[in-house]
Amino acid sequence: MKGLRRVPDAFAGGAAAPAKRLPLENNNPRPLALILFGSPGSGKGTQARLLQQHCIEGPHISTGEILRTHIDAGDSIGHQTERVIKSGRLVPDELVNRLVAERLAQPDCASGIILDGYPRTLNQAGVLLELTDRFGFRPAVVYLVVDYERIVARLSGRRQCPVCGTLYSLKTNPPKVAGICDLDGAALVTREDDRESVIRARLEEYESQTRPILDFFRQTGVPMFEIQGTGRMPERIGQEICESLVGHGLIPAAPDASVRS
Ligand code: AMP
Repeated sequence: MKGLRRVPDAFAGGAAAPAKRLPLENNNPRPLALILFGSPGSGKGTQARLLQQHCIEGPHISTGEILRTHIDAGDSIGHQTERVIKSGRLVPDELVNRLVAERLAQPDCASGIILDGYPRTLNQAGVLLELTDRFGFRPAVVYLVVDYERIVARLSGRRQCPVCGTLYSLKTNPPKVAGICDLDGAALVTREDDRESVIRARLEEYESQTRPILDFFRQTGVPMFEIQGTGRMPERIGQEICESLVGHGLIPAAPDASVRS
């Protein structure tokens, strides 16, 4: 347990007002299940890593990463899902729900979780609310709003470290040495599903299957924060997310925490 966090100085640099600090809602100590929501390429993975470094307890759970690990391992889940993933379509709910339920039962989730890429269908959203109830999490959604026109360019310029998972953008966040991960020196790769035709299929899946979940969350009263996901540095976006969560009593901030502008 890392204890009480400050809204981090590392996020400083924007013109935001200091976060308004409220007590945790109803003094409810339930850990946060933060659902990072947004289309492919909206920056969910980048934000998950920043939030985990700076202000949210618990692991970053990416269903895409879990599935890619099975593909890399060449196991039966990998064989079942590889073709679907490479085509940009969604893998069956039943499988993803089971993988998430197993992951949430791990002890490192006890202090909270950051979900990235799950839920992606109404069925998954319903199952997630059952799981958050069962494991005692308090769910909240951060919706990263992005301009579709920018998505294809952003995703096709994306590179990832196959070792540590760090994401780079050739335009806005390139590695120090072209093609090489800053953190561990591995050669960066382009994910197969970041090819343009596949990106379009992923955006179609998002529009038809995933976006309707927002209404479901609104109807079920899950707190939701709409955050502009483009046009600013990722750190500034992360800072705004932390401030919103602290301001609504969903994560704690130290008594002297402030966000410098
Ligand atoms: P991501 O890394 O989140 O963009 O996910 C990559 C791919 O994995 C997606 O395009 C889907 O094929 C599959 N995938 C990841 N998460 C889910 C999910 N929650 N439901 C169904 N398929 C998923």
